[in-house]
Amino acid sequence: MIEAVRGDIVRERVDAIVNAANTSLLGGGGVDGAIHRAAGPGLLAECRLLNGCSTGDAKVTKGYNLPARHVIHTVGPVWRGGDQNEAELLASCYRRCLEVAAEIRCRSLAFPAISTGVYGYPPRAAAEVAVQTVLAARGSPIRSVRFVCFDTETASIYEELLTGQEAPF
Ligand code: ADP
Repeated sequence: MIEAVRGDIVRERVDAIVNAANTSLLGGGGVDGAIHRAAGPGLLAECRLLNGCSTGDAKVTKGYNLPARHVIHTVGPVWRGGDQNEAELLASCYRRCLEVAAEIRCRSLAFPAISTGVYGYPPRAAAEVAVQTVLAARGSPIRSVRFVCFDTETASIYEELLTGQEAPF
């Protein structure tokens, strides 16, 4: 199943939620700040052991006080006009999160709209990359992907892109 909902990702009761982190993995604003606040200090302590994360890659921690069992931290690209490999790096974030989720035997996964906040990626272009990349994830053991959108505009873009699409898993 693949769906879009409007909501706050910290409330998602899934095997893993994805965090739109920065390369330090030591917390930040936006969804990253919300996840760290809801998870509690154990999350930051575990993140300190990970030695950061490259743009386009993903690393996993436990979920601590979150209803989600795990957090998969990924680092989206900063939007620099679109000719700096942004789309490929953003697709890599979604692919790596799906791979990491499969490695830890997650069946349900929730994504925020990576890079569309402080990192400035245009929301529709980012949603197209997100949806295309997840729809291309054939053979994944994941059974449910939710795109959790913080605002109604982003949610309606995802709903439009997902209309008539079947999950490949
Ligand atoms: P980035 O630095 O990757 O741009 P941001 O956290 O600034 O990350 O924004 C990414 C997206 O996450 C934005 O669309 C923002 O509105 C959204 N967002 C912020 N807080 C939450 C939350 N609690 N749950 C889901 N999405 C959120």
